[in-house]
Amino acid sequence: MSMPSDLDISRSTTLKPLEEIAGQLGIGPHLLEPYGRNVAKISLSALDEHADAAPARYVVVSAITPTPLGEGKTTTTVGLGQALRHLGKRSVVAIRQPSMGPTFGIKGGAAGGGYSQVVPMEALNLHLTGDMHAVTAAHNLLAAMVDNHLHKGNTLGLDPHRITWRRVLDVNDRELRNIVSGLGAKADGSPRQAGFDITAASEVMAVLALSTSLHDMRARLGRIVVGYTKSGTPVTAEELHAAGAMTVILREAIKPNLMQTAENTPVLVHAGPFGNIAHGNSSIVADQIGSKCADYLVTEAGFGADMGAERFFNIKCRNSGMAPDAAVLVGTVRALKAHSGRYRVVAGKPLPPELLEENPDDVLAGAPNLRKQIENIKVHGVTPVVAINAFPTDYPSEHAAIRQVAEEAGARVAVSNHFTEGGKGALDLAEAVVAAAEETNQFHYLYPDTADLRSKIETIATKVYGADGVSFQPAAAKAIADYEANGFGRLPVCIAKTHLSLSSDPALTGAPTGWTLPVREVRASVGAGFVYPICGDMRTMPGLGSAPAAERIDIDEHGQVVGLS
Ligand code: ADP
Ligand code: MG
Repeated sequence: MSMPSDLDISRSTTLKPLEEIAGQLGIGPHLLEPYGRNVAKISLSALDEHADAAPARYVVVSAITPTPLGEGKTTTTVGLGQALRHLGKRSVVAIRQPSMGPTFGIKGGAAGGGYSQVVPMEALNLHLTGDMHAVTAAHNLLAAMVDNHLHKGNTLGLDPHRITWRRVLDVNDRELRNIVSGLGAKADGSPRQAGFDITAASEVMAVLALSTSLHDMRARLGRIVVGYTKSGTPVTAEELHAAGAMTVILREAIKPNLMQTAENTPVLVHAGPFGNIAHGNSSIVADQIGSKCADYLVTEAGFGADMGAERFFNIKCRNSGMAPDAAVLVGTVRALKAHSGRYRVVAGKPLPPELLEENPDDVLAGAPNLRKQIENIKVHGVTPVVAINAFPTDYPSEHAAIRQVAEEAGARVAVSNHFTEGGKGALDLAEAVVAAAEETNQFHYLYPDTADLRSKIETIATKVYGADGVSFQPAAAKAIADYEANGFGRLPVCIAKTHLSLSSDPALTGAPTGWTLPVREVRASVGAGFVYPICGDMRTMPGLGSAPAAERIDIDEHGQVVGLS
């Protein structure tokens, strides 16, 4: 039996008025700022009103190392949120806002899927309340002020060759990766090599996600480093007098967006930082509000547990002071089979047909990845729960293989049918999560603030990725020394590597051993508050493929959006 499309399910949902959705969280209508009928911003005074409330149980949803198709963190996050309501818990889901780059590129919608999705998906995937555009505007205002500063005499002594602040747009456009700006007459500025990143890669997006209040955001924007003088002194947005105006542009964007799931469970959608050169987690402000207004707050961390969950623990929680009560690790039969190394899964292509045959041995052959990712949760003192995200092509023997591995590794485990059944398909998972979250845990960061940058990188590489060690290219070693001299050494690190392997080589499946993490260069997002070593080639402005999703997206005869998924 075939399921209706995600868009059809989204459209057939009976949406409840947002006042009612907010009411489930004890948030009064005076705190809602409606943007149309289906989305509202929540005023930050919700935090003051609920200051004395007990915090929710805090659950992060992560995954084994995914295939390029994604293994269902968003659907599981939404399904688990819905299921917790079936158990009588007041739950709220918190996710990132999708970028329109991937929406029109390879991915289509990013609202979850099946009966576990955020609705309406058109609103979620396209513009929402304009936060992405506000980030773009604030980012590009700073870029304009940098170039204007050069043009008007450069009293801060910025070295035009050491400007690190680029421009951003929320579109996949490879032509903009490298450009020459300032062409024309003398009055048109000074030509220099420049370029664009996608908005999700903007440091302003990471600032929005990691700020704990409007004033904290103002301070972080001020600390953004736009470049260096000839003698290597950092120049900040504060020194350019840009941070105030940037904050004003973002004053609405800092309020989380309230939506609902296909079962009318409240969802906070807020911020969308990249998962490689940034920390890939939704906002702290949304979690602060969600935590005070619910029994359970379920949030998704991008990519596998070595990436999103590690940053959730060591960057997001370190900034917010919040502590997780449990971590869900989404696993699928298809990804574990791919980790056997016997199949190649390619984005935008159908799965190899042999991968879909019953074969629990392949699942077991890929299991080292699951075992390592369970360890990666436990090494932070957090209790893991493995969610087997069930696909119609799975066999019970294959689920049994995953269950066996997870239990042997000391994790709770549940098969989850949230995609086809909604919340009631995730009841076993919700029960396992409640049991895990009610246990006391020993959550702790992997490394202290005071460790030096090299040892922070080495700790993550050896303890989480399973590397033997780290090699630093000369440029990386120099950057680390400069950052420490400039006082950035206390920041946590966000290692930019492929998400398709625990290692830095996307072709290595399972849990690779006997390798060294190569750090090519090291950059810093001082405003957002992390240093990011780069391992391998990192794209900060994607391109479109040969058949971009944009070619299939259109409006039908009723003016409705078609082709989003
Ligand atoms: P992630 O958040 O981990 O990237 P998503 O939840 O976005 O993953 O799911 C990735 C893709 O797989 C989406 O297209 C989603 O609709 C699909 N998907 C996820 N879970 C299932 C499932 N159980 N059955 C069928 N398709 C699924
Ligand atoms: Mg997702």
